[in-house]
Order: sequence, then C-alpha cells, then structure tokens
Amino acid sequence: MFSKILIANRGEIALRVHRACQEMGIRTVAVHSTADATAMHVRLADESVCIGPPAARDSYLNVAAILSAATITGAEAIHPGYGFLSENARFAEMVEAHGLTFIGPTADHIRMMGDKIAAKTAMRSLGVPLVPGSDGALVTLEEARAVADTVKYPVLIKAAAGGGGRGMKVAHSEDELEEAWRVARTEAKAAFGDDSVYLEKYLDRPRHIELQVLADNHGNVVHFGERDCSLQRRHQKLLEEAGSPVLDAAARDALGATVTAGLRKLGYRNAGTLEFLWQDDQFAFIEMNTRLQVEHPVTEMVCGIDLVKEQIRVAAGQALGYAQQDIRFTGHAIECRITAEDPETFAPSPGRVTQYHAPGGLGVRVDSALYAGYTVPPHYDSLVAKLVVHAPNRAEAIGRLRRALSEMVVAGIKTTLPLHQRVVEDPEFQAGDYTIHWLERFVARQP
Ligand code: ADP
Repeated sequence: MFSKILIANRGEIALRVHRACQEMGIRTVAVHSTADATAMHVRLADESVCIGPPAARDSYLNVAAILSAATITGAEAIHPGYGFLSENARFAEMVEAHGLTFIGPTADHIRMMGDKIAAKTAMRSLGVPLVPGSDGALVTLEEARAVADTVKYPVLIKAAAGGGGRGMKVAHSEDELEEAWRVARTEAKAAFGDDSVYLEKYLDRPRHIELQVLADNHGNVVHFGERDCSLQRRHQKLLEEAGSPVLDAAARDALGATVTAGLRKLGYRNAGTLEFLWQDDQFAFIEMNTRLQVEHPVTEMVCGIDLVKEQIRVAAGQALGYAQQDIRFTGHAIECRITAEDPETFAPSPGRVTQYHAPGGLGVRVDSALYAGYTVPPHYDSLVAKLVVHAPNRAEAIGRLRRALSEMVVAGIKTTLPLHQRVVEDPEFQAGDYTIHWLERFVARQP
C-alpha cells in the first residue's frame, strides 16, 4: 500500500480523497493555487505545496508543477479527483513515466473513452446498446444530412471531444441542421481545440441512467448499480439518486452483466462510469467517464462501500476480494449539488461565507470544503457542497432530504439551496416522474 498520496485537485473532492487516505493510514499532499492558500483541503492535508497563481491553467492544470510537488514530497501516487487533469491521458502517462502511480485507468483507456466516437465504436463491439446515429466522425454537412434522414429528426450534433454539455446542438428539422452543424463545430473547436463531430438521434424524453463500475488489475470487474441523474440544467446534473426510481433489479442486472463482461474483455481497470439514456425500457450508451464522478456518494450510501478507498486499493495492485453477488443494494440515496449561484438566474456568486451550518442526524452526509469565514474564489467550478441522504426507501429519503435542507445554512453568498427546497416539494419529483427535460421547465416556472 502507498504511504503518501498527492491529491491533484481542490474543493470538496480534494477533501473527499484526503478523508479516504487518512482512514487508510496514508499521508496526503495537497496542492493549491495562491487563491486557495486557506482552503480546507490545504488545512487538513499532512503537507501542502503551492503550485501557481489562481488561473487553473497555471495551477491545477500545471502538470510540471504537480509532478515536481509529488517528487519533492516523496508521494508515490497521484489521485486526480474529477475535472482538471482527471481525464487527461498525457498526464496519466507522465505520472507513470515519473515512477508514480496514477490512481485511475490506463492512459490508453482514458484516451479511448475521451474520444466519444472511439468510445461508441468500442462499446458497439462489446455488445453494449448505443443511441442510433452516425457510425463515426462526420466530415461534411451532406454526410450529416444523410444520417439524419436515416435516423429521423430531431437529431443532435455532438463534439467527439465533448464534455460539460458543450459542443452539442439540436436540429429539429432539416432547416436547422446547417446551423447546428456550424455552431457545434465552432463551439467544439473553441472549447476542445478539435472540431470533430458526430450525430445522434435526439431522444425526446429519456432519463439519464449511469452505471458505476470498478475493476482491479487481475481481471475482476464488478458494478455498483445505477444512478439516475436525469435532473439536469443545460446538460449539467443538479440532483442524483441511487437507485433509479424507474429501474427494477432485473433490468439493472442485465445491463450490469453486459457491461462488466465487456470491460473485462477490454482489460479496463479502476473506477469508471458508463452513461446511458433510457427511454421505452431501452438503454442507449452515450459516453464513459474514466474517473470518479461528482455523484459517487449516492452509490457509496446504498452499497456501503468507499469508492475512493477501492480506487486506491486496486491502484496499489490489490485484488477486489469480492464478487458481484456480494454487492447488496440497501435503501435509497439522493444527492443535491449545492452551488454558489443565484437560485433563479444561476449567475455565479463567489464571496465570503459569513455563516455555515451543515445538517446532521441519521442518514445525512455533507461533502463540502466550506467553513464560516471562507471566501469562495471566483476562479473555479461553483460546486460548494453535496448534501447526501440515505434512508430505507425513496419516500423516507425525500422526507430526510427536506428536513436536512431546512437545517442547512450557507450565508454571505447565494446558493442553489432554495431551488433544491422547491424541487423536493414538487409532486412530480416526489413521484419520480421526470425526464432529462423536466428541470429546465421547472426552473422556467417562477417560484
Ligand atoms: P457531456 O460529456 O458534454 O456531458 P453527454 O454525451 O454525456 O455530454 O451528454 C450530456 C447530456 O446531454 C445527457 O445527460 C443528456 O441529458 C443530453 N444528451 C446527450 N445525448 C443525447 C441524445 N442523443 N438525446 C437526448 N439528449 C441527449
């Protein structure tokens, strides 16, 4: 087992990884920008190294500074968290080239899944169902038109290098195709430096259901069930549940069997998430994330495991030591992503937190790097806290969530807490009756 791990991230996820390390008796090295000198992850880590100025490209994306920090502190492995360098294949290669362990999949698998076209090709060959669309990259508008005619409108033009909902445009009819094609490519070029695009049928009322997987370096692959992440705004998740209100055990097991067999064949290792759209009882793969997800806690709550510890154990070469049938799903968990944003306009709201009170009690977990007196810097992602509840069933989880939301206090900055309070009171949410389009409409209705 490692004796020291460098955490190449910030905020709640840096803290999350630190906590797992601490419980395993592993020392931690925090890295931080000058804007984060007083951040909680820096305060709690055993050691810390400043890696640059506030802008992420000069600090949290600064590979040379991070590798130097690992070398001078004698860290043996690097946990990348999510975002920043977590899905950068070149970074994973450089970590290994410096004799350190990258806590994640191989660079080849990161590269494969980072290219959504290559990911779909791989999944097709493994028998995983896909959203209908183009077979690969589309070079001309005429090709796009031909595929759209086959799969029928509406269609979606998507960036091969896409992420964070960027480089994605809908065309409801042939008239809109040229515009969608142009905008998606321009956005993709600007955001990812790569304008390769592909086309998918635009599903009109799907749910977003994803499957958490874990593989060791010895050919053992398991899944930890599904998460329903259908509550999204601008293709960004806001609230997640495990399990899905609409999926039964048989459907989950069937998908899990296909996916784990496929990943075993691929030689995949460490944690990963396969994202699917689900409509008319059918799953259709959209992408795979080769890292820990923001919403991983809901899975941890229903499975009673610590995914970060599992990531560290398998990265150190240990075998899983359990099989699929040993994994049990108990109760229901819900996570709210609380961001430093206006709950109605979603304008960013960084600044000083004057009061902070986290809710508690049975089945309540808060993953947050906030504290009273902390100043949320304007340079990074706006996620400031994840409120997670776990209860024997969904109805009790909702009651617990309502109670926990009412106890939580974050003063001095605006947060999305009031929006979550409205969602929890909504009869359609309570009935589990929603698709990926539900939240946009809900937000548009004034409180
Ligand atoms: P990103 O990597 O940018 O997050 P994804 O491919 O994961 O992009 O898609 C993000 C979200 O966009 C999905 O969760 C879903 O809400 C929506 N989406 C993606 N593909 C489709 C599709 N073919 N039809 C309808 N909605 C889609």
